[in-house]
Amino acid sequence: MDIQKLEKLLIEKNEKSFRKKQIYKAVFEEAKSSFLDISTISKDLRVFLDKNLEILPFSKVRVLTSKDGRAHKAVLKLSDGKLLETVLLSPKEDTWSACISSQVGCSLGCAFCATGKCGFVRDLSSDEIVSQVLFWKQYLKQKELGGSFSNIVYMGMGEPFLNWKNVKDSLNILIDEDLFDFGRRNISVSTSGIVKGMQKFVDDFPQINLAISLHFANNTKRGEYMPVNRMYDLDQIRIFLKKYFTKSKRKVFIEYILLKDVNDSEVDIRDLSRFLRSIGSLQLLHVNLIRYNSIEGDFESSSEKIVRRFQYGLRKSGIHCTTRKSMGDDIHGACGQLATDNKKR
Ligand code: SF4
Repeated sequence: MDIQKLEKLLIEKNEKSFRKKQIYKAVFEEAKSSFLDISTISKDLRVFLDKNLEILPFSKVRVLTSKDGRAHKAVLKLSDGKLLETVLLSPKEDTWSACISSQVGCSLGCAFCATGKCGFVRDLSSDEIVSQVLFWKQYLKQKELGGSFSNIVYMGMGEPFLNWKNVKDSLNILIDEDLFDFGRRNISVSTSGIVKGMQKFVDDFPQINLAISLHFANNTKRGEYMPVNRMYDLDQIRIFLKKYFTKSKRKVFIEYILLKDVNDSEVDIRDLSRFLRSIGSLQLLHVNLIRYNSIEGDFESSSEKIVRRFQYGLRKSGIHCTTRKSMGDDIHGACGQLATDNKKR
């Protein structure tokens, strides 16, 4: 919902200031999907808002649900016809987590990522970003799925730090007590390693979690599969983290997607251990190993045995490490699988 437009409309109608809070409560807390259902405001105002303002800035194209019912992927159509994908996951029973997008497509072209293959289409506005959370709140309510909303992760389509102004505004809306009122520690922003953006992020939001999609710990290899490494290489990431840990005791998450015969060998374990040890503060680094989810293309996922060996190797070097359970690959809603065909739009 466009908050500034709502404020203007309320002024136009000469409404008292407390009306705004009543509407916020109905929309953000109670997840009402229509102004006509807000019983705390007059009928006249309900009809007026319904005519002049949208609660969601997109329409639903479809929602796919995984066989186990723990992953839902929505394809949403924006007002200019562009398509966006967003995912709702239940990593634990009665707990839901929204994986939201910050851009339509992505300019960074990581070789193993479906979004990267689509190219960049456009940035999402702050309203389009936070409304994905609102969409899932309404969905949980309508489907009576139960459980509570625990986490928001910026790990969908796009690189958040290449759309920083809108991502920053969206974070402020998510943590605003009158709006979503999410705890800062329940939000994570994931970057492919845009060092300039990481610096601004930790300055502005010191309590929100930072995750770095590293995936390679060798500059030549990382540059080959992740072109962003040519802008910000491993040395720059190391310098940033070293400096960050002198001031902050917040944990940073390192994402590592395991690709068969590409980055899952003993040498890769050694490279990753060396890189992390060279940063120091190992107790503040946590590696999330991610099973690759195949999209049509050139990569395969590492076997269970290799994943276990990788995890064991890292732990042996004193590195905190867990393997993230893959969810939603049967609906192409898993990590690296978000893509919509926007070329014809
Ligand atoms: S992995 Fe992230 S940064 Fe890389 S292309 Fe995909 S969306 Fe962009």
